[in-house]
Amino acid sequence: RSLNGKVAVVTGAGSGIGRGIAIRLAEDTAKIAIWDINAVGAAETARLIEEAGGTAIALDADCSDKAAIHAAAEETRTRLGPIAILVNNAGIAPFTPFMDIEDDLFDKTVHINLRGPYLLTKEVLPDMLAAGWGRVVNITSSSVQSGSFAQVHYVSSKGGLMGMTKALALEFAASGVTFNMVPPGFIDTPMLRSAPIDVDAFAQTLPMKRVGTPEDIAAAVAYLASEEASYITGQTISTNGGRYMG
Ligand code: NAD
Repeated sequence: RSLNGKVAVVTGAGSGIGRGIAIRLAEDTAKIAIWDINAVGAAETARLIEEAGGTAIALDADCSDKAAIHAAAEETRTRLGPIAILVNNAGIAPFTPFMDIEDDLFDKTVHINLRGPYLLTKEVLPDMLAAGWGRVVNITSSSVQSGSFAQVHYVSSKGGLMGMTKALALEFAASGVTFNMVPPGFIDTPMLRSAPIDVDAFAQTLPMKRVGTPEDIAAAVAYLASEEASYITGQTISTNGGRYMG
């Protein structure tokens, strides 16, 4: 509970995992900026945080659009202060057999899931470098370990994000800014419920006999965002209930 009013941007926090992360970081005393294209969901997350006594703003921002990212960052700085924590969580996860993937859909998936975090990091890193302290946590996916049927576009984008996290961690290792990642396993969110999977039956095949919760992911993110994790960079906390190891 030690974030001491630092400003945290959580993308895609209008739903699912992002909402869980935003609520948890607010409990840890961060001021939260929710950036999402889902304005209704973002407002609801902000309401939940404020109702619990925290501070949150909800901004309508397409996190694959450079101008929108810049505008959201400027508004966040004006209303809350310099950005200290970035959680790149916004993402899409289409299911499409490989030969049916339209080039535009491949590009869109990469634009949101990989190019977005690249643009976001470039936008907010100067705040962190100026402070000599920062945390970037990227939400990747256990599908990079396992592959995922009909998700070549998605798994490619998340694999790229894993590589980007490690390369950034190395380049900025001496700056006070850490870059880490949390690859979720199967987490109960609207995204999972819209996938072509019988979630409750599938849960029984998992080692823990349950899918994960947004709070499970949020706990790993909260640790990586904390002061205590200052000697950890370029690392992965796999949060998948023991389905994939190593
Ligand atoms: P979700 O669909 O419930 O929420 C995703 C949020 O991202 C939504 O609010 C959506 O509006 C937002 N978003 C999408 N495109 C955006 C854009 N261009 N700009 C801003 N916001 C945008 O999904 P979730 O299950 O909470 O997933 C969150 C992250 O976790 C994603 O990156 C996803 O790939 C990853 N993940 C989820 C699971 C799972 O089982 N749920 C597993 C592995 C990885």
